[in-house]
Amino acid sequence: MPNIAVFIEHRSGVLKKVAWQMLSEARRLADAHGGEVWGVFLGPDAAPAAATAGKHGADKVFAATGDAFAVYDSELWGTALAAFCTARKPDLVLVGSTALGKDLAPKAAAKLGCACISDAVGLKFDGGWEIRRPIFAGKCFADVTFSTPLAIVGIRPNAFVMAESPKAGAVESFDPGLDGVRSKAKVMSVEAATSGKVTLTEAEIVVSGGRGIKGPENYPLIEKLAEALGAAAGASRAIVDAGWVDYSHQVGQTGKTVAPNLYVACGISGAIQHLAGMSSSKCIVAINKDANAPIFKVADYGIVGDLFAVLPALTDEVGRIRG
Ligand SMILES: Cc1cc2nc3c(=O)[nH]c(=O)nc-3n(C[C@H](O)[C@H](O)[C@H](O)COP(=O)(O)OP(=O)(O)OC[C@H]3O[C@@H](n4cnc5c(N)ncnc54)[C@H](O)[C@@H]3O)c2cc1C
Repeated sequence: MPNIAVFIEHRSGVLKKVAWQMLSEARRLADAHGGEVWGVFLGPDAAPAAATAGKHGADKVFAATGDAFAVYDSELWGTALAAFCTARKPDLVLVGSTALGKDLAPKAAAKLGCACISDAVGLKFDGGWEIRRPIFAGKCFADVTFSTPLAIVGIRPNAFVMAESPKAGAVESFDPGLDGVRSKAKVMSVEAATSGKVTLTEAEIVVSGGRGIKGPENYPLIEKLAEALGAAAGASRAIVDAGWVDYSHQVGQTGKTVAPNLYVACGISGAIQHLAGMSSSKCIVAINKDANAPIFKVADYGIVGDLFAVLPALTDEVGRIRG
């Protein structure tokens, strides 16, 4: 199997979870079929990210550093990723389907004239590549092949499991080919939209609410427990469709896929489409007043009870324990 390159998305040198997940999956494939795993890093200092990338299976980390990569810029970063692909000729480039990655992947692919496959959840190699992605709002999957020598593939966060598989992760610099390239936009400032809150796909703990909360005025019950636990607040599609919370909170087949250490489902029945987005969580706790709710089939711990009684008591107790 030829080599797989993984774009190492990071914030100030700290890897996004999706980068670890892609490295782990690329490593698994390389161990099964041969080939190397390469990290591609753009940013001011490659050393901290390269160490983590090595821990998760990167044989090498190709880095372009300097002021041009201090802040994300579609034109400069797209040019750099394309220059890397032209010079090193990987077979496949994996980019996280994050806000940044969804902008970067097609930009680089357009410059290279290669295939770009978005929002993938599975990779298979059997002499050639098959890329699995959900279609028709998650109702079915398409297994996609490509005819160009290279494809850039966007990978959904939490589609793959993180694993440690230490490799050298030695840093080698590459020429990003920016001579004469001008940025077409100027970034004036970067402001975090959810300052102080935990990002759903990155969270170690997620507390989600469903139709059992009865109305939007009760979503703060979910948020309060989430805050007490240092967790992100999620939601079922039922309450997103009802307009009780924003779509950015939706967990499931047509929302976000999460794989935290702890997932607390409150007043959620456990429809298959919801499970598709959270069943890889390490520990699932379900709170539901119906003992026969399907969510209890996947739960490690179940509380059969009224969430209006259970949630405040749980929040108080967590607050007490955590001081
Ligand atoms: C193509 C497609 C894609 C979809 N994608 C998604 C998706 O991404 N994410 C998603 O979540 N859904 C998705 N759905 C919808 C999914 O099928 C369910 O309709 C939805 O998940 C139900 O949400 P819910 O569990 O909050 O509501 P319900 O199914 O209505 O469940 C509410 C639960 O709350 C419990 N309850 C009620 N009152 C209390 C109380 N006081 N205390 C404790 N428990 C209580 C009830 O016993 C019940 O189990 C999709 C559907 C389709 C067709």
